[in-house]
Amino acid sequence: MFWTGELIARSAPIRRRVTAERSPLAERAVAAYVGLAIGDALGATVEFMTPKEIRTHYGVHENITGGGWLRLKPGQVTDDTTMALALGESILAAGRVDALAAADAFDAWMRAKPVDIGNTVRRNLVSFRSSRNPEAPLSEHDAGNGAAMRLLPVALACYGQARDDVIAASRAQAHVTHHNPLSDAACETLIFMIQDFLAGRDALTVEREHAAALVAAFPVFAWDRKHSENPSGYVVETVQAVFQSLFATECFEDCLIDIVNRGGDADTTGAIAGMLAGARYGLDGIPRRWLRSLDELTRVRCEKQAEALIALSGRAA
Ligand code: MG
Ligand code: MG
Repeated sequence: MFWTGELIARSAPIRRRVTAERSPLAERAVAAYVGLAIGDALGATVEFMTPKEIRTHYGVHENITGGGWLRLKPGQVTDDTTMALALGESILAAGRVDALAAADAFDAWMRAKPVDIGNTVRRNLVSFRSSRNPEAPLSEHDAGNGAAMRLLPVALACYGQARDDVIAASRAQAHVTHHNPLSDAACETLIFMIQDFLAGRDALTVEREHAAALVAAFPVFAWDRKHSENPSGYVVETVQAVFQSLFATECFEDCLIDIVNRGGDADTTGAIAGMLAGARYGLDGIPRRWLRSLDELTRVRCEKQAEALIALSGRAA
């Protein structure tokens, strides 16, 4: 017979002390940022694999082990996290979301030879180098998820701001590389969802007010409850898979395992699901083994930047 106390102790969520200097809001912001990095690091191992290939190699992929087509070190992140960090630094330096500052930050990031880079990002940053225009031309083809994967610093810096200001900030960062109405709609929806989770709103309300509103405005985003496989880099497929995982699970770990085992653009679906689930469940909900596995320098950068961006939002409000 099992000793019930031991079972409870084993299955109890890991409690994390809220540090004296960190408010509950800052704590959730940190969880969103670390969640982004964890989803990226976890998903990158299985990026471009099919669910069947993942099952053959890993059974269920549930640990941060590196490898994958990028041959990553365990805990290493990719462009999803490093572009977000570059954007966040530009926001902190300028004191606001500024398109030119963001474009310069992305350009510097590209010059530093990142481990991976999307085609749309590369093409429009190369154009920016000669034009110095931080707004890429409107393009119906640039509906990839590259602007959505890095938007978290905007959600944090603009927390509590007026809706129109949040939308303008979202477009300023997104249009540096992705100037497309579907990308815009996805980015704005994701930012409002993150902000509502940071405010402690429940998933049903967030789904009704934001995910459903996105579908009403752009029916192409309609998602069903079926488990989709191999979500591509097309922002519509990415967002559909993220919604399926986020709204069908009830903890951070289940959400992230569900999304990355779908394969496809798994680092980016993992990153976006991770920021939403981090904001939803907070630091207590993130498995300690994932926090320990994440590259430490990256984890500390994410934590410090999340705190600074939330502090900036408080000064702007
Ligand atoms: Mg990536
Ligand atoms: Mg990717």
